[in-house]
Amino acid sequence: MRALDDTALLSLWERGAARHALDRAALLAAAARPDWPPESIADRPLGAVGDALLRLRVASFGTRLDGHADCRHCGERLGFTLDLRDLLAEAPAEPVPGETTAAGLRLRAPSLRDLAAVAALQAEEAARRLLARCMLAGTPDALDDAARLAAEQALEALDPQADLALALRCAACGTEDLAQLDAAALLWDEIEARARALLRAVHQLAQAYGWSEPQVLALSPLRRAHYLALTGGAA
Ligand SMILES: [Zn+2]
Repeated sequence: MRALDDTALLSLWERGAARHALDRAALLAAAARPDWPPESIADRPLGAVGDALLRLRVASFGTRLDGHADCRHCGERLGFTLDLRDLLAEAPAEPVPGETTAAGLRLRAPSLRDLAAVAALQAEEAARRLLARCMLAGTPDALDDAARLAAEQALEALDPQADLALALRCAACGTEDLAQLDAAALLWDEIEARARALLRAVHQLAQAYGWSEPQVLALSPLRRAHYLALTGGAA
């Protein structure tokens, strides 16, 4: 996967800034996978989209992730460092199959379009509606608890990368919990930070030397950093 260059990054940031998180995930996935027809992205399995986003994150910003999560039991802020290659290594080598079966139901993997359709609902209703959307036949109203659990487990097995989670143990109270990782948010945070740094650099070098934005962006990162240092700023 190719890294985002500075011009492409600024353009993505500009187009993504005002979007809803799910819409932004689709925009970032289109940048990560130009070989995917753009209109197909909203219907692809979430795990495939997340995998593309993580790979673009690694190619553009490196493998190290410094994150944090709050303990759900005592509220302690837990910092963690993660090598994103470990998450990518867990991805199945084969693409997610089109469908699976459980408890006599035929199911397909959820997509960004499914998440968008249930985004405004309460958690329980959202889970019910999501399952209904992923059932290729029947309705979830007819399911008993055991069938519903089997269906949810089958969906998880169908697309294991759809939910990225990290096991954490709270240093303060010892509670063990799973911190959810959102690949789109991980990538977007980096894009946003880099975009702000680039605009600061353009501003500073334009003031100092009268260069235009394209001229500043055309400099290699090394040259840009040196000129910035000469003007008294930091990259
Ligand atoms: Zn705790």
